[in-house]
Amino acid sequence: MASSSSTPPPSISGDSKLFVVVDIGGTKIASALATQSGSDLPSVSGKSEIPTPAQAGSQAVVDAVFESVRRCLALTNQTPDAIGIASAGVVNTETGAITSATDLIIGWAGTPLGELVEREFGLPVAVLNDVHAHALGEWTYGAGKGYDSMLAVAVGTGIGGAIIAGGTLHLGAHFAAGHVGHVPHPLAAGFACSCGASGHIESVASGTGQVTLYNAKKDEGAAEVLSGREITERAEAGESFAAQILSESGAALGDSIAGIANCVDPQAVVISGSVTRSGEIWWRALTDAFEAGALPALKEIKILEGTLGSKAPLLGATAAAANLLQTKQ
Ligand SMILES: [Zn+2]
Repeated sequence: MASSSSTPPPSISGDSKLFVVVDIGGTKIASALATQSGSDLPSVSGKSEIPTPAQAGSQAVVDAVFESVRRCLALTNQTPDAIGIASAGVVNTETGAITSATDLIIGWAGTPLGELVEREFGLPVAVLNDVHAHALGEWTYGAGKGYDSMLAVAVGTGIGGAIIAGGTLHLGAHFAAGHVGHVPHPLAAGFACSCGASGHIESVASGTGQVTLYNAKKDEGAAEVLSGREITERAEAGESFAAQILSESGAALGDSIAGIANCVDPQAVVISGSVTRSGEIWWRALTDAFEAGALPALKEIKILEGTLGSKAPLLGATAAAANLLQTKQ
């Protein structure tokens, strides 16, 4: 079932641009119209989500993206200026192709997504990785607005990130820069990581990682937890072991972020994602560990919480589409 918001379609005037924006995740595809005017926060309207047919393969997912774009086009009598797409997987932003991906979406790697969407709709298409889009959104319109450089860390089911440097999104030689979750940490020793390696920070500091850590360290016979949320609730209810896990996990992430910041030297660190709701104990552990691990010149780096919430990838796709139009001019 699709769920829709009741916001009316935007009216376009002056220098504003209209975009169809799509966010392709492993479980759902979100789409909306976005109206952008300068560097103001774009207005997003007509947002809707459909399930990603992830097990049905690449063509089924592409068809679902087409369906999402058509739905958005039907919401307006204007012709959009471009289409912006944030997608799971590593994306070649020059061609719009998915160069590699996990099995979250079967057969997604190798899909020439940008080319297919451009051919179907005859509009310019910008495609970028969803975590990169998240960061681009926060940098362009959210917590990172106004900074020339920024390290973005997204902590949810997994841990992703992005590096903004020299006033641009740093993509890397393989379009894979910013994989903050896949740096080693001693707390993660022996734990399997989603990337296939072991010992990476994601395996003990993502939401899933907090659960892994809790269940691995708990007393024999004690009940297992099922979610990071449950650990936070237990800690808030006074369970000292849950508080200890949040503290260890948050501190480990703070160590890792400090190490990455020492390499990148950003003006700000923007942290977002569901795990940022892990409470005061987690935040304190993270920021204390960051300060302890950051080089003297970097201890004053601002650690900010993302402000765009779940709209960040759609807003990042908006920024990418707007940037594409600028480079075409
Ligand atoms: Zn990993």
